[in-house]
Amino acid sequence: MPDLLKAEGTPAVRHRPRAATALAAVPTGAPVSQVWAALGTAGVLRDLYDLYDHDDHDDRGGGTAAAPDPARLADLIGAVDARGDNGVTLSVLVQTASALPVLAACAPEKGPVRQALDAALSGTSTVALAATDSAAAGSDLAGLGTEVAIGPDGLLVTGGKRWITTACGADWLLVLARHRPGRHFTSFTWVLVPARAPGVRVRPADTDLLTGSATGHVELDGVRLPADHIVGRPGRGMAVFAQHMGTERLAGALWAVALTSRVLADTKERLTRRHFDGRPLWQHDAVRQRYAACLVQVRQLRALCESLGERVARRQDLAAAALLKSAAGLVADPVLAACAQLQGADGFGRGGAQRIRGEAGVLGIGGGVTELVLAAVADNADTVLTELRS
Ligand SMILES: Cc1cc2nc3c(=O)[nH]c(=O)nc-3n(C[C@H](O)[C@H](O)[C@H](O)COP(=O)(O)OP(=O)(O)OC[C@H]3O[C@@H](n4cnc5c(N)ncnc54)[C@H](O)[C@@H]3O)c2cc1C
Repeated sequence: MPDLLKAEGTPAVRHRPRAATALAAVPTGAPVSQVWAALGTAGVLRDLYDLYDHDDHDDRGGGTAAAPDPARLADLIGAVDARGDNGVTLSVLVQTASALPVLAACAPEKGPVRQALDAALSGTSTVALAATDSAAAGSDLAGLGTEVAIGPDGLLVTGGKRWITTACGADWLLVLARHRPGRHFTSFTWVLVPARAPGVRVRPADTDLLTGSATGHVELDGVRLPADHIVGRPGRGMAVFAQHMGTERLAGALWAVALTSRVLADTKERLTRRHFDGRPLWQHDAVRQRYAACLVQVRQLRALCESLGERVARRQDLAAAALLKSAAGLVADPVLAACAQLQGADGFGRGGAQRIRGEAGVLGIGGGVTELVLAAVADNADTVLTELRS
């Protein structure tokens, strides 16, 4: 077979990400469980992570933790986004970039936490990350009300979680609870709750958006579990969450790049086909300038992902993660709004640009609203300024 990459005069063929190959046979519109299973079976989920030693962040008593490789994460998010089901993409994103890293950081050699991690990595089960609480605003994480009582006979979990991605299809719920009152960051603990345990009730979120994400609200009514369902050390819940929060922020920014690029490509194609006074709309200066401004913004966002990705994924640099998340929130909405406008009435079609724009709003809400993340950027203003001036 000729080497296409080296053949003279032949355009370079971009390597096809493994994730795209794994998903090639998965039918359009398949639910997240099927997409997840295909990724797990092909080894894409397991190979996403590099194992690294961790000592001071140790939540299991020694060993390794998982950080996704930024390039492989970009390939995965891009391949899932290309399927055009934003709900499924959101579910894969939260699982790979939030739930699995937390589980991996805390999983002992054996027991249910290890089993849940291994099953999720192999694609045979799915796991939802349930932090946002029914008892408090999502932006006020330390105000959460869900409680875990840790007693000699095991655990008792009571409370509720809302707007949890994958909740309606998950086998496991990774629940952030408090084991003592108060807002101190050592008051919180992760608990692994089997979705079918007595006392767990999940109802779908009442929304037409992101339906493939299986997002739902969770009630935990006196759920009794063995002690080995604690994830990590009691009191380390918030610290572990903060340590891995950056990975989800990087994944969100990567998704914003993939999604806006996909919609921009579709928009350009439509503008080329539609004519005004004998000329394609694409030839009109005002249209071209508006479109080009979007391209510049998305290209800047991708450059930010490229320059900060390693720092976020491997060094848990939360200041860099805040920059990425706020940039994603600030870029996606205006770019998708411009695309929707440039598509005219067609943007209102089923699954069209207007709907995509609404769904992409989750980039500025989920995992921390843009305002809150901008506050973190402001907190780090001096560091950012030093870097800009060096
Ligand atoms: C589709 C979807 C999927 C989700 N998936 C998950 C999941 O898998 N797991 C999970 O745990 N959670 C999930 N969430 C919840 C999400 O993380 C929360 O919605 C988010 O943290 C915001 O919380 P809230 O909705 O309660 O908004 P609130 O905290 O009530 O904020 C409402 C608005 O007030 C303003 N605001 C809030 N705080 C500030 C501030 N400090 N400064 C200035 N303005 C502010 C902002 O405009 C904000 O949008 C999901 C949400 C959605 C929509």
